[in-house]
Amino acid sequence: MEKVLQPECAKCNVEIRLCRSKEGTGPQFCPTRTKEKELQTALEKYKDQNTMRFAKAASLQEAECYVRRDEKPFVMRPTKTRVEEIIEFAHKMNYRKLGVGFCAGLFSEGNTFVRILEKHGFEVVSVCCKVGGVPKEFLGLGDDEKVRVGTYETMCNPITQAEILNEAGTDFNILVGLCVGHDALLLKHARALTTVLVVKDRVLGHNPMAALYGVKGYFQRLMNP
Ligand code: SF4
Repeated sequence: MEKVLQPECAKCNVEIRLCRSKEGTGPQFCPTRTKEKELQTALEKYKDQNTMRFAKAASLQEAECYVRRDEKPFVMRPTKTRVEEIIEFAHKMNYRKLGVGFCAGLFSEGNTFVRILEKHGFEVVSVCCKVGGVPKEFLGLGDDEKVRVGTYETMCNPITQAEILNEAGTDFNILVGLCVGHDALLLKHARALTTVLVVKDRVLGHNPMAALYGVKGYFQRLMNP
């Protein structure tokens, strides 16, 4: 009997992938070949009416991000920024009240994004990561563990951000630049489904892809730890 290996899709190098084509194949670790039970469990979950509507809208939005889709051979011609994608998706879902959880380090960008959403007819609740003004000592951090050593610093407070968005009854939330980990806590504690506009990368202008693109060049240190 074939040994079932842990999925390693990121290392899949077959020419035609089974998950993309009925004529395709998958390597030994291919979860499309080995994870039938998980697939069926997941497909059952999509059958929930709200989940189905959301998933359908997301796939429709995905397609609508390209033009000239009926041409053969198809050539990708994407036309929509992520800001536009979020706006269109929220309209598709008939969302009225949006929550924006933003990082204090991106105050100006958060302000711009909220004003754009309002121009497009949404009511927006925005909550800064420092909300509550709780000193970092609450987390047991000492003076030498702060960004500015020896000063008074308030902690990023993603669970409170989530609680406030929950209390406001937002239909959908959008994150703007939260730190690694803080984003995960907000995602876990928010009641409404939550997407991400911006991921924080303090060095690369919030474009972490640049490190991956440059891994054979100026970022080779990443592969040589
Ligand atoms: S699901 Fe299978 S075919 Fe698709 S990327 Fe993963 S390993 Fe490759």
